[in-house]
Amino acid sequence: MLTAKYKIRIPPGCLAEFQADTGNNPESKHRILYNLSILAKMQTTIKIINLSLPFKLGSVNCYLIKTHTGYVLIDTGCSNARDRLVEELERAGCLPGDLKLVLLTHGDFDHAGNAAFLRKKYKAVIAIHHEDSGMVEHGDIFYSRKKHNVAAGFLARFLFRFSKSVRFKADLFVDEGSDLTEYGLPAKVLHLPGHSRGSIGIIANGEEFFCGDLLVNGKRPRLNTVIDDPETADNSVRKIVSMGPETVYPGHGKPFSMNALSIHPPAKMKRSQPLISQYPTPR
Ligand SMILES: [Zn+2]
Repeated sequence: MLTAKYKIRIPPGCLAEFQADTGNNPESKHRILYNLSILAKMQTTIKIINLSLPFKLGSVNCYLIKTHTGYVLIDTGCSNARDRLVEELERAGCLPGDLKLVLLTHGDFDHAGNAAFLRKKYKAVIAIHHEDSGMVEHGDIFYSRKKHNVAAGFLARFLFRFSKSVRFKADLFVDEGSDLTEYGLPAKVLHLPGHSRGSIGIIANGEEFFCGDLLVNGKRPRLNTVIDDPETADNSVRKIVSMGPETVYPGHGKPFSMNALSIHPPAKMKRSQPLISQYPTPR
């Protein structure tokens, strides 16, 4: 009987050491490694907090991730649903001091509306991409967006402006490749401009992907019709596809399998055509 000693990272930054009898059978070694990889995933659990939006605009998702060191919250919803958000955090066992990081996929009012409040109550660090930081500092969703339609822009600015108490300066700027391990999350940030200039995605455990508002899941998973720059959005979708995540967690709608995104291309679509042409192109 052979006794082997292994050192495995579960997850990165957290070293586990164990001994096991593997005999001469390499299969038992693989089984042990497989079980450990499951254990690593179990270190992080995802709670979906679905919050309603004002003006009957539907709902938005926040994702509370429990890690081995505390909690990370991806997006915070709109300020109208603050009480409900706090209730859900408490129900999950996330109390002041436990929330390590509030990570914003972009600077829109429906995702960043409770960030300043959470920082104050939970002492969490707020992170955003620097290209969207002006939006949350000035309470203006068009701060760094193109002005396609002046009238619609004026109306949206009026309806969706942040009040002064909701505006904030972020503590941390994240960008392509930012590593979240120090917050207990084995995850990396991707810069995914398109919906806004500073939109980001987060890939956790190598297979769970939080896409913000670039992709949405209404009747089916698709590119958001609210796009600031179609060309960069197209490149961002290609980037996600190339990462090959298993499950996509959108800002709006239920999580979906990455396969579901590309199984309904128009019949005449050539393989070489940009991916964005599979979806309604915003005008
Ligand atoms: Zn949104």
